[in-house]
Amino acid sequence: MATIFSKIVAGEIPSYKVAEDEQFYAFLDINPLAKGHTLVIPKREVDYFFDLEDDEIAAMQVFAKRVATAIKKAFPCIKVGQAVLGLEVPHAHIHLVPMQSEKDMLFTNPKLQLTAEEFKEIASKINKEII
Ligand code: AMP
Repeated sequence: MATIFSKIVAGEIPSYKVAEDEQFYAFLDINPLAKGHTLVIPKREVDYFFDLEDDEIAAMQVFAKRVATAIKKAFPCIKVGQAVLGLEVPHAHIHLVPMQSEKDMLFTNPKLQLTAEEFKEIASKINKEII
């Protein structure tokens, strides 16, 4: 059975897309720790991040770098933090979170409640900065 993230890639479930190439897809986390919190996933369905092939992880990290650079331009921050958890959704993903302090990376923090309009605006702002 396809994961919820594969359904997002297939367009069967809506998402706020930030960037895409042949292998990877980036979209806003629906329960963001900060404005600009983005998930990067491989289109190939693999549960555990460290089960990805070496070249896939390398390429995914390069893709995530492009997205993180765009996030930092769209949402000025000290640095964009990166985290891999994967305890909720069994489809490998990298979290990218603009940080004003290390507390912004605490996944136990309350999540932002944003409207669809706000999500759309954030995704478009980041997308415009993708090189
Ligand atoms: P984890 O697997 O622990 O890394 O957490 C999964 C993340 O995916 C959480 O931060 C969720 O808010 C996020 N998430 C789950 N479903 C969706 C969805 N349909 N669209 C965007 N983000 C999602």
